Amino acid sequence: MRPTFIISFDCEGKWGHADRLSPNIRGILRTGPLSAIFHRSVSLLDSFELPGTFSFVGAFTLHADQYLSYIRVIRATPCADDFFADVARSELDGWFCPEMLAEVPVGGRHELASHSFTHLQFDEVPAEAAELELAASVALAQSQGWSPKSFIFPKNRAGHLDLLARHGFTSYRGRRNFTFGRAGSLASEFNLLERADPHPTKAGAPLEIPCGHFLNWPHGLRLAVPPDVTVKRWCHILDDAIRHNRVAHCWLQPHNLLNGRGQFELMERVLREVRIRVDAGLIEPMTQEAYARAALAELTS
Ligand SMILES: [Zn+2]
Repeated sequence: MRPTFIISFDCEGKWGHADRLSPNIRGILRTGPLSAIFHRSVSLLDSFELPGTFSFVGAFTLHADQYLSYIRVIRATPCADDFFADVARSELDGWFCPEMLAEVPVGGRHELASHSFTHLQFDEVPAEAAELELAASVALAQSQGWSPKSFIFPKNRAGHLDLLARHGFTSYRGRRNFTFGRAGSLASEFNLLERADPHPTKAGAPLEIPCGHFLNWPHGLRLAVPPDVTVKRWCHILDDAIRHNRVAHCWLQPHNLLNGRGQFELMERVLREVRIRVDAGLIEPMTQEAYARAALAELTS
């Protein structure tokens, strides 16, 4: 494998926050602003001719009049109470956003991936629940004309890998464990010597894709991280990938861009640094799916 750059987005709307839907979060997770910022993000990647991996919570891609077809799956999820309370109030804004899925053409530069069906935490549920989620995710995607090959676990918490493989997934994004939890994660944002991740050495079925790093979300305590520090940190990650043949994987959630101060501009600055290195032939930009395909071919040859 060559030095590689991947960028992945967790697209989830209210499903990703159903266990903590504060009035503030409710105000942010609205279909109109989410669609608009997502459109800008896809356009930005296109302007740099860089591929992105967009992993969707299946239920989030439904039209509001379709959810009854998946009622059994939605009823089984822990966030069902919040969802049905909003249904009773006719407040469906932020739960469904098929417009976002429609922004990513099937078979084009970008990858459509799965982020489960209702944002269920796979490390906390029995196999039957995981099976229900995966079967619904794949069936819905196929009815929409695409077939998911890579997976991003809700909250990056992996579980039931055997079921993932059985449903045709070749790979999933791994997880970084910080010794001091959120404080450790925040402290790492100041590390200007941050390293890229090594390529996998085991051909897993599915393959664990190096987890990479979150693009700082300038909000709350994270506002303390100056944008120049974040850009310098990412330059070091990219150059480390180039120098030591590693993977620089950047991930974020589109709704972060709505209330992260200047985060869109931050993403633009990082992608510009990526493009400079791609133009110099130093690093290859890939989707998760393409990366897994190439890595598995090399590991099994
Ligand atoms: Zn998520």
